[in-house]
Amino acid sequence: MTFQDFDFDDQLVDGLLSMGYTKPTPIQAQAIPLILDHKDLIACAQTGTGKTAAYLLPILDKIIRTPDAQRHLNTLIIAPTRELAMQIDQQIEGLGYFTGVSSIPIYGGGDGSAFSQQRKALEAGADVIIATPGRLISLLQMGEINFKHLQHLILDEADRMLDMGFHDDIVKIIGYLPPNRQTLLFSATMPPKIRTLAKKILNNPQQISIAVSKPAEGILQQVYMVQDHDKVRLLKRILKEGNYPSAIVFASTKESVKKLDVALHQIGVVAKAFHSDLEQKEREEIMREFKNKSLPILIGTDILSRGIDVEGISLVVNFNAPHDPEDYIHRIGRTARAETTGTAITFINDRDQRKFAAIEAMIGKEITRISLPADFGETPNHHRPEQQGARNNPRRKKNYRGGGKSGPKM
Ligand code: AMP
Repeated sequence: MTFQDFDFDDQLVDGLLSMGYTKPTPIQAQAIPLILDHKDLIACAQTGTGKTAAYLLPILDKIIRTPDAQRHLNTLIIAPTRELAMQIDQQIEGLGYFTGVSSIPIYGGGDGSAFSQQRKALEAGADVIIATPGRLISLLQMGEINFKHLQHLILDEADRMLDMGFHDDIVKIIGYLPPNRQTLLFSATMPPKIRTLAKKILNNPQQISIAVSKPAEGILQQVYMVQDHDKVRLLKRILKEGNYPSAIVFASTKESVKKLDVALHQIGVVAKAFHSDLEQKEREEIMREFKNKSLPILIGTDILSRGIDVEGISLVVNFNAPHDPEDYIHRIGRTARAETTGTAITFINDRDQRKFAAIEAMIGKEITRISLPADFGETPNHHRPEQQGARNNPRRKKNYRGGGKSGPKM
């Protein structure tokens, strides 16, 4: 299948060519015809599959083909975080560059001027709004948005929105929308609560599912079994001696990100923390520095693992083991973008071993254990493989002693 098969408007084709898209991804090949055919849709697909363009391309095409006199606010996209909302807005800008389709991102945080800017933009009108639930509710309650002519509702990363406690907000927002709209729900996972929500808000939906993504081939994955008190020292070694020009370090919570930021500064490592307590301007500035490579190391939580698309990240470190396999795949997928190579290192302490066994089971691969440098303390006491849920995977026994390969000379 090629993009020609969809018979998109020429201006849209110019946009997607300028973005460097030559061939639809599997989710695009499946979703675009259904969306063009006005079907409601549940799509199970993760970040990295091209899911954003899978819904943007047909929606943009429909908007371009709408006669001027009927051009009103056409599409509402709801996303869990402002980072994702901004990314979606940037994709609209890129894909829709030659089309004249306009969009407004609406998200919380920032100062009062951001809020008034968003209100002003709304007054001027747009074809598409991309919003996080909280801020959208505030504007709706103030009567700032007229959804009378809305044609499309898209919920992006719906599972994450429910995890973040946005269920009631979403239902409330939908109460403001016309019932005869087309609704598309994209989610990385399909737990029962998503199905329940889908039943409530979709009309006879088509379903598509893109197989759970596996980490890209180009990612060299490694594990260090390390006690918590040795982690900062080990990270410093890896960063100092591993020749990684651009790295992301993931920690589990905002608080641990801040702590790690302080610890790294104390030992002279140049890094910046990225978290939701920063002003929006500061976050944008940090992201700009990281993208243009003037900032070599970024520290963040899983929020950073979704949506950010920066090329040339050579190293991802999971300072804390991720909570679930999908978070792991998202995090390590920040490196080795666009078929390059990269390294993903995960630190595992005693308590993380069971969790990490589940991750290995899902990706169907045992990750190489690297020995701690000789001057480090003891490797955490590992449990026997049988206790790790590894019974069914005899391959796991091979490297289980935390010995595995020797690490780089450090
Ligand atoms: P997403 O899954 O929407 O986060 O997209 C992941 C990345 O793939 C983004 O950088 C997109 O710009 C890119 N992308 C989406 N569709 C295509 C395509 N058909 N060809 C090449 N890159 C694409």
